[in-house]
This record gives sequence, C-alpha cells and structure tokens, in this order.
Amino acid sequence: MDMDMDMDTDTDTDTDTDMEPLLDTLTHVPKLVIFDLDYTLWPFWVDSFPQPIQFQKDSSGKVIDYRGREVKPYCDSHNILLFLQSHNITCGVASRTEEKVAAEQLITLFGWDKFFKYKEMFFVDSKISHFDNIRTKSEIDLEDMLFFDDEPRNIYEVQRFGVVAYLVEDGITMRNFIEGMIKFSDKKTEYLASMEKNM
Ligand SMILES: [Mg+2]
Repeated sequence: MDMDMDMDTDTDTDTDTDMEPLLDTLTHVPKLVIFDLDYTLWPFWVDSFPQPIQFQKDSSGKVIDYRGREVKPYCDSHNILLFLQSHNITCGVASRTEEKVAAEQLITLFGWDKFFKYKEMFFVDSKISHFDNIRTKSEIDLEDMLFFDDEPRNIYEVQRFGVVAYLVEDGITMRNFIEGMIKFSDKKTEYLASMEKNM
C-alpha cells in the first residue's frame, strides 16, 4: 500500500523520515483512528488546570491558560493528525474528561477541528460508551478502527470490545503511531483469516 510520508510537515521533528519503509509494509489501514486526549495527544489532564479552565491565544499566537502559561500538545501529535488527514483516514476523539468545554476550546486553539469528525467527550466509567456512539454515528465496524490511549485499563476494555488498541506510554510519538498502524494491519489480517475459516 502506498503510504508515503510526504506529509505537510511543519514541525522540527525528523522522526517521520525513517517511517516510510514501515508504512510500505502495511496490508490494511484503519478507516477510523481514535485518540484519547490527556497524556495521549497532550501532556496534561485538562481537568487539572486551575479554575477557571480557560485557554486563549496570546498576541504571538501561543496558546496560553488564564495565568498566561503556554499550553502545548506533544510534539508529534499535529503531524500524526496531518498525516491521517492527507491519507483520507478519518479521526476522532474518545475522552473521559469532565471538562468538555475546555477540551473543545483547546482542540480549536490547536487548529485541530478540521481533523476530528467524531468527538465523544464525557465522563463515564468505561470508554465503551464512547465507542458505541462512534460506531453508531460513523457506521464503521469496530474492526476497522484503531485507538490510541495512555491508560492500560482503557486499552484493555476497548480491545475486548473489538477495536485494535495501542498503549502509548509517554504521549503519542510518530513511532508509536506507526507501530499502532502495523498492529492494526496484522490484527485485520488475522481477523479476515479467522472469518474465512469460519465460513
Ligand atoms: Mg489519557
């Protein structure tokens, strides 16, 4: 599959350049990639900012909290989202945040509204509710979704629900992303083989 990495990169990371050969090995790609927010796309819990939780851009274009401190996502997050967009792979968010309005605000300020077709952000015990909603709205099968999250519990639950899930340990990186894509491709191959066997 042609998955070259000539993405519209605008960061100073060079981690993407050696990923092209890995991507070329993929047999299957997901139709939908879903991301957790806190400690997956950005290095904090939105809930943990001091109240009032509000963000804005300063005169230089930096995103800041109400104390004027800069707020940034993980350095590869934007490029990963750009990459998916440039390959017409739909993206979404599944977050258990209790600060939906603030999380929405950050997504907008980071310029990510254009990336996310589905945003399920509400506090509930399990992320299965989020995925149930996403499946209903998108009409995409669970086995065509790939999920990234930093909490083992979410990975375990969502995986049991039927979605390929990848645990990121220190925020998403390009390497995690590629490994997740490879995991998806391998699982999909297994899934199709098992379906064939059962026919
Ligand atoms: Mg998280």
